[in-house]
Amino acid sequence: MEGVFSYVNDHYQCEGVPLAGVAEAAGTPCYVYSGGAILDAYRAYDSAFGDLPHVVCYAVKANSNLAVLAMLAREGCGFDIVSGGELFRVLKAGGDPARVVFSGVGKTRAEIEYALKSGIQAFNCESEGELAEIDHVAGELGTTARFSLRVNPDVNAVTHPYISTGLRDHKFGIDIAEAPAVYQRARRFQNLRASGVSCHIGSQILDYSSILEAADKVLALIEGLRADGIGIDHVDLGGGLGISYKGADKAPGIADFVQQLRERVAGKGLTVMIEPGRSIVGQAGVLLTKVLYRKNSPSKEFVIVDAAMNDLIRPTLYQAHHEIRPLHRLGGGAKVVDVVGPVCETGDFLARDRALADAEPGALVAVASAGAYGFVQASNYNSRPRPAEVLVEGSHWRVVRTRETYENLIEGECL
Ligand SMILES: *Cc1c(COP(=O)(O)O)cnc(C)c1O
Repeated sequence: MEGVFSYVNDHYQCEGVPLAGVAEAAGTPCYVYSGGAILDAYRAYDSAFGDLPHVVCYAVKANSNLAVLAMLAREGCGFDIVSGGELFRVLKAGGDPARVVFSGVGKTRAEIEYALKSGIQAFNCESEGELAEIDHVAGELGTTARFSLRVNPDVNAVTHPYISTGLRDHKFGIDIAEAPAVYQRARRFQNLRASGVSCHIGSQILDYSSILEAADKVLALIEGLRADGIGIDHVDLGGGLGISYKGADKAPGIADFVQQLRERVAGKGLTVMIEPGRSIVGQAGVLLTKVLYRKNSPSKEFVIVDAAMNDLIRPTLYQAHHEIRPLHRLGGGAKVVDVVGPVCETGDFLARDRALADAEPGALVAVASAGAYGFVQASNYNSRPRPAEVLVEGSHWRVVRTRETYENLIEGECL
């Protein structure tokens, strides 16, 4: 389930690097990413498409560390961005703007201008107001903007309600039944060119039949648009493939999934794009933390660690499960505990009612499967400096983001 993370003589390792040494040198809490795991997942997507024209646009929001982006950029990966800040990161990391698509329901004028000046591939548009705005900015810049409409195929992705996006009452996309009329009306915009159709129905999808159902609906739409003379040359099928956070979850295979997409898109004269985030970085990262104290209430035993909800919010935000692994397995007996952090919120927990061994004060543990939607959602709540980030490549590791300092906490503030 966790691939490159494994015990060697009871010491937990990432690739060839024992993690206790990283925790001691870099401090805790600290995110650690496996470069090898990230590249393997990207290459699984890329190679499964074979000779079908395709662009894998990694969803930057899952993990936007510059070193991670740079590694993917060197492989020729494209990027799916949802803000000007993400575009800035992609460009700083050496990403090719011609392989960038810009998603999101609320692009500002400044962001649209930045994206057009940078020469991105296409906008995934989510409303007619947005089309008008992009047309206006493109006109001012004397350029033509390529766009896809992000359609909402009204398909229910079976996942947590906060990360399901493809139903009619979600804020995302344009109802697929309305899309042909919107493409027709968009013809009046002088500075826009319809080049694709996109969709993204949700995240952490373990049964990808819902994504295939959406793909079928989108491909049928494209046939109709082409019959009406709209020159669609790409289909963007979004991200959303899930990973196995616990043994009982069966994660879909990337190659099998892509094979299904290939069969549907081949021979149609379309470039296929996809926007995977979690399935590229999720299993490639852990959050290292140190046990500070243990304490008992009448009904519970708590393990208090130095990482908190501000470092990893997934357990409390999505009721997400993350396995917890002691960095040094001592063979002690497991006890059922809540693993909690120092933040002043009852919602500050990393695990609840979990059987955990070898987690006495001073012990180091890894919170598994934390490479996606981990550091990127970290905050300074409770004035806690955000953790360091480390990248492992083979038997080498290096800090790719230093731990924040107290001085960082007050940057930009004044008395
Ligand atoms: C979040 C998001 C993705 C990535 O989703 P994953 O589940 O991480 O693969 C892709 N496209 C869009 C538009 C998104 O909002």
